Amino acid sequence: MHDPIREALRAHFGFDDFHAGQRDVIEDVVAGRPTVAIMPTGAGKSLCYQLPALLLDGVTVVVSPLIALMKDQVDALRARGIAAEFINSSLDAGQQRAAFDRLASGATRLVYVAPERFRHGSFLRALQRVPIALFAVDEAHCISGWGHDFRPDYLRLGGAIEEIRPQRILACTATATPDVREDIQRFLHLDDPRVHVAGFLRTNLFLEVKHCGGDRDRAQRLVAFLREGRGAEGAVVVYASTRKRVELFARGLIQVLGARDVVQYHAGMDDAARVRAQEAFMSGAARIAVATNAFGMGVDRADVRAVVHVDLPRTVEGYYQQVGRAGRDRQPAHCLLLYNPSDSRVHEFLIEQSHPQPSLVTAVWRALRAADRPLRLAELATLVAEADGEPAVEAALRVLSRVDAVRGEAGGLVAAVPGAPADPNELGLPFDELGRHRQAEYERLKQMKRFVHHPGCRHAYVLDYFGEPFSGPCPGCDRCHGAVATGVAAGVAFESPSPAETELVRKALAGVARARGGFGLRKVAGMLAGSKAKDVVGTSLASLSTYGLLDKLGVEACAELLRLLVDHGLCHLEGADYPTISLAESGWAVMQATAPLTFRLPAHLQPGTPVAARTRALREGGLPVYTDPDLVDALRRFRREEAEVRDVAAYMIFPDRTLHALAAEPPRDKAAFLRTPGLGPTRWEAFGPKLLAVIAEQIG
Ligand code: ADP
Ligand code: MG
Repeated sequence: MHDPIREALRAHFGFDDFHAGQRDVIEDVVAGRPTVAIMPTGAGKSLCYQLPALLLDGVTVVVSPLIALMKDQVDALRARGIAAEFINSSLDAGQQRAAFDRLASGATRLVYVAPERFRHGSFLRALQRVPIALFAVDEAHCISGWGHDFRPDYLRLGGAIEEIRPQRILACTATATPDVREDIQRFLHLDDPRVHVAGFLRTNLFLEVKHCGGDRDRAQRLVAFLREGRGAEGAVVVYASTRKRVELFARGLIQVLGARDVVQYHAGMDDAARVRAQEAFMSGAARIAVATNAFGMGVDRADVRAVVHVDLPRTVEGYYQQVGRAGRDRQPAHCLLLYNPSDSRVHEFLIEQSHPQPSLVTAVWRALRAADRPLRLAELATLVAEADGEPAVEAALRVLSRVDAVRGEAGGLVAAVPGAPADPNELGLPFDELGRHRQAEYERLKQMKRFVHHPGCRHAYVLDYFGEPFSGPCPGCDRCHGAVATGVAAGVAFESPSPAETELVRKALAGVARARGGFGLRKVAGMLAGSKAKDVVGTSLASLSTYGLLDKLGVEACAELLRLLVDHGLCHLEGADYPTISLAESGWAVMQATAPLTFRLPAHLQPGTPVAARTRALREGGLPVYTDPDLVDALRRFRREEAEVRDVAAYMIFPDRTLHALAAEPPRDKAAFLRTPGLGPTRWEAFGPKLLAVIAEQIG
């Protein structure tokens, strides 16, 4: 049977088959329907306009922001005998004219253009003179202010399309939330487009999520995974949320696995160091890369066997893009996300900070006006009571500069623009938009948290998120296949919670109900734990029947439990300045046993977990992640020598428990020494200063 599309695929591109979705998109495009193709990176979106370009009469225009890649793509097409051109700022006027001449003569099938070309009327007029069979907008999400890649020049495309009147339009992107999709449709004037979502299913990726305690717990699981688990089998990328955390985990891994195997990568490194890290990983010299999400662009090692997240990603798109770096060679790969409910606080903080409240923006404006001279950022931060540090002021200034109310001056100073109205209400500040954007960011974070707690198939969740139909079967995830042998201590498989867990959750919910929605999460946690803190004892919380109901858990664990209940939608946490916790509808149902509990608690929150183990698991941030083996040796030597001198058994100097506590958090002064479990004033007198000297010598 005559199949021109298939024949073109073979003849011009040498491919045997279409990737998922390609054929449907191409058929719609050729048939002349406005089309949107949403496919992940690497799925083959280019073919969706390159192939029609060969079948259609007239020129195909491809708008792409990736100027650096245009030449390569055009060269590759020319090598296949396809008459392609590109027009961007890297060409001089003569070269551009020559390209246009070839276009006008009908010799060119496909031309790549940069969006900023549309700033020039002359460019538009030149395009109007050639018949445009297809106008393809690549990376179409750049048109939307909701996305992370907004390019104002993309907003010109709608007008350009009106002028050029191309016969067909295709918009391609890898990421499109419903908001972004709507913007693409609206700004490109797509009338009732066909929207294809395809290719998101990655059948060779096993998706797993583990609920963890603090950094120490995560680090231990990470090491186990890299030593004995799936992560021992090849190249691994470990993603952390910030530069500091990349350094923290990289340092720890280097101690355990050696410096040769591990590289780190984040935006704070200088170019040379980044290139070195990238090359070491790409060449295979290093097996493990610890990175922020800055790592990935251009890193295309096909044999990545595992991706581990040690922090919660902010969005499902981000998560999926990062796990997508695993298994490019189509061999099985494992994706492990280590997560704790408190992770989302960092994201919430950053969202708040980049979307300042109106009160802050107007306060900054008033302070700048009142100062009547240019100010330094730090000065401004101290003048504005509402501001919580310089980044907050900076964010407010960004909002003010969008309406041209402020401007930067030499020496890092900022000033109010003279003549701008004094009344902030007259500045036309985009508070509505800011509020909507903030809400959208929270919504994306919420979707990510839902993924983590989702009781069903992980792949199904992701595909549903992107809007691609999926009917199974699941190619591999912890929910559908249980915790397979990952080499990591067994996590929370999806089983029914035990009666004791359910009881624990009901008690916590009862506490929230009694607090009647007037208190913050930590205060309610303090109440449940029976805290003696003033801000608990001094309030009505102390007289509630639920005071101390979960005293075996401790405040930290109670707080984590409550955050978990919020994440699962059993409780609400609402209010901007002082969020208060209250019971949700579904929380009432679980509390009154009219609905079952649908999730299990992580190991360290299980009833009956010894308090010490729980505290260890909950300890967060700032601590050395791993115990330094050399330090452990030095401490043992010290203990042996002290024991010999005194002619007592080693454990009489201090027990192993103390030894490990010393190695985990080496004391640097008397106070810290006295805080170490198993050490007190008598031991300080006996050998305290000497021990500090040993520690100082060992770790500098
Ligand atoms: P995207 O733009 O969706 O990220 P690309 O268009 O750059 O993806 O394509 C990724 C790779 O897949 C390219 O090397 C391309 O040649 C290849 N490719 C595209 N379609 C097919 C196909 N049907 N069969 C084999 N390889 C393909
Ligand atoms: Mg592409």
